[in-house]
Amino acid sequence: MLTFTDDAVTAVILGNMQDAGLPHAGCTCVRCTAAFEDPARGLFAACLAIVDRREKRDTEGHREDAELHREKARIYLIDATPDIKFQLNLLAGALGSHPQRGNRLRQPDGIFLTHAHMGHIGGLPQLSKEAMFVNGLPIYATPPLCELIQQTRLWSPLVQELEFRPMPGGTAVNLGDGLVVTAVPVPHRDEWGVGTVAFHIQGPSKSLFYLPDIDAWEQWPAAETTLRSVDVALVDASFYSADELGGRPPVAHPLVTDTLARFAPLADRLMLTHLNHTNPVLDAGSAAETSVRQAGFRVAQIGDPFIL
Ligand SMILES: [Zn+2]
Ligand SMILES: [Zn+2]
Ligand SMILES: [Zn+2]
Repeated sequence: MLTFTDDAVTAVILGNMQDAGLPHAGCTCVRCTAAFEDPARGLFAACLAIVDRREKRDTEGHREDAELHREKARIYLIDATPDIKFQLNLLAGALGSHPQRGNRLRQPDGIFLTHAHMGHIGGLPQLSKEAMFVNGLPIYATPPLCELIQQTRLWSPLVQELEFRPMPGGTAVNLGDGLVVTAVPVPHRDEWGVGTVAFHIQGPSKSLFYLPDIDAWEQWPAAETTLRSVDVALVDASFYSADELGGRPPVAHPLVTDTLARFAPLADRLMLTHLNHTNPVLDAGSAAETSVRQAGFRVAQIGDPFIL
């Protein structure tokens, strides 16, 4: 369970792997075998939480009662991953108890979805009646992604418990007191024509950019100016090099080697996330991990906090 700084907005990493996590279904590679044998070596699919624990002050500047304040923490997830039950549990201390069911966690205050791929929406069924049983949970996503989920008949019982808040690319949602989340369209394979967005999160003092999936840096001309404009950027690092593809055609993700070269001057603010199980950057001390570290970049780790 994670703990959070009082009276602050914190973004926290809840997962750093490509959609399928570690271990990867059906994989017998060394990393996956180790994680199947020892689940403690597993890693969750890419996910970020925003935890707003700012205290409200009255007109004379007095803080409100600490107990009351804790109940009022606002908690948002970016993406609903197949690991959502574990990721919600990491937030147990911040979520607190369900208002009516004492042995359950309170539901989060909203979930922002980047796109329709499995690792980003695959946790939604865990919110339905058979599992967490949320009620009126706000879901922020592009209008066509909201529609796609609403039209998926398999999920119709769940859909009744969600409150869709269509959020076209380029629009912002004000979460209160200077905390603003903006959806930024990015190029990424799009089987259903529902788009992919990254999220720009502006806190009261710092900003964070969350970009777990993008096809190629060349296809997004605003990349450098966008990444340069924020305090921290979490970016797609699915594959380290073409060696992982075993001769298969290039995949729709930038290679870490390219990202390191292209954004070398931004190493202080770039963090790598959404790593595929094949990525040697996962192995501490490997040549790939060493090259990332020596270039001044970091790999996002579960629990990494960023005070916004
Ligand atoms: Zn993904
Ligand atoms: Zn594997
Ligand atoms: Zn994707």
